[in-house]
Amino acid sequence: MKIMNILTSIGRKHLNGHKGLTAEKKVVRYDPDYVYISATDNKGVELQDILPVGSKVKCQTVLGKRADFGIPVLSSVSGEIVEIKKVFNKSLLRPANYFVIKNDKKYETEKSEPVTKDLTKEELAKFLQDHGYTGMGGAAFPTFIKYKTDAKIDHILINDVECEPYLTTDYAATFEEMENVIYAAEKLANTMGVKDVVIAIKKTKAKAIEHINNCLKDHPLIRLVCVKDVYPAGYERTLIKMIFHKEYKALPSEVGIIVNNFQTMAWIGSTLRTGVRPTSRIYTFSGEALKEPQNVLAPSGTLINEIIDNVCGLKATKYTILSGGPMMGRPLRQSDIPLAEADSGVTVLPLAQLEVGKAVPCLRCGICVDHCPMYLQPVLMFQALKRNDYNAANKLGILSCVECGLCSAVCPSHIELTAKFSASKPIVKIKTIKK
Ligand code: SF4
Ligand code: SF4
Repeated sequence: MKIMNILTSIGRKHLNGHKGLTAEKKVVRYDPDYVYISATDNKGVELQDILPVGSKVKCQTVLGKRADFGIPVLSSVSGEIVEIKKVFNKSLLRPANYFVIKNDKKYETEKSEPVTKDLTKEELAKFLQDHGYTGMGGAAFPTFIKYKTDAKIDHILINDVECEPYLTTDYAATFEEMENVIYAAEKLANTMGVKDVVIAIKKTKAKAIEHINNCLKDHPLIRLVCVKDVYPAGYERTLIKMIFHKEYKALPSEVGIIVNNFQTMAWIGSTLRTGVRPTSRIYTFSGEALKEPQNVLAPSGTLINEIIDNVCGLKATKYTILSGGPMMGRPLRQSDIPLAEADSGVTVLPLAQLEVGKAVPCLRCGICVDHCPMYLQPVLMFQALKRNDYNAANKLGILSCVECGLCSAVCPSHIELTAKFSASKPIVKIKTIKK
């Protein structure tokens, strides 16, 4: 997916974020009659020890456990499991089993005890695992693994940059969640022996910066760092390079850093501080095809089409729905799809806005190479794929491509580089597996 007109100038990384559509609006609450929670992990493997149909549940009731990491999958509402049925899963790109839970709208919760004592590293990792935290910035990486490390950690980095155009969920949460974020940051830093916690935000978000600075007055361990308004500043690797001037191979802990999304940290803080592990989050529903773009607080498992129909409304007749924003988001072929905890939002754009120039041959200008945050050579990878030379594409590092969309967005020849990489990565994996 490439949307050229979100760029303010080709060849530079500053994007028009279109954040004004939702940023300063009050968050609205949406209570669905039913939620749909995945009964598989993100590889499609069925959960273990699943609750049967007919079970009464509360918010935070364990519905089943992921076989890979032993992480529980939690109910986001109180009510009853009325069915387990196939629903389209946008990560797996196919129908998969989902718990269908009738929401009694009481939001009773399996409240646990607040954590006031200092935690050991082992206790902290277990706490994070038992409460089913995964990253809420999109990647859904299990949070406990970041803290179950023998590496010496010097910094905890709280990512509040949110560089994806249109999305303002972290921005909205900034005004609601600082108490929880500070509580979690200080507790986690204490456990990990960390003396420096950084909240990173774009320097253009003046109102949020003022709010964070006011909240941090009596918390000297935590500092605010304002970064340039460029894409993809919020990408973990780019952000660490910008702030700490460090690079790593696989995980930031290699260079003494743990990174958490702002809202992940807020949820950890809420659970530690009050015993309530949140199960509803703010989703941004934005885009010029919507009558009323909004930040919507809804339980995970709410269907996308319900929020579009009942909260935002459509004003365009021809439009595309993207899961996420226009740079890293994926177009959806249907909208009766449940929102997951890791989803930040949905962007609905008029088709006319998506029109781009016809692709012309590569100019060999190298602009795509200059902009790749993974230091890849998109032009060479694209040429290798055109020759069906999957070994060459693999050697060029295509499997490290994070599909940020930047190479496509800056390409003056309108070549759909990212779409090609996204479609080809599974083939490269299969073709280059060592037998
Ligand atoms: S989509 Fe992949 S190749 Fe293109 S700029 Fe992003 S990481 Fe680099
Ligand atoms: S693919 Fe596009 S950006 Fe990259 S070298 Fe060719 S014309 Fe330039």
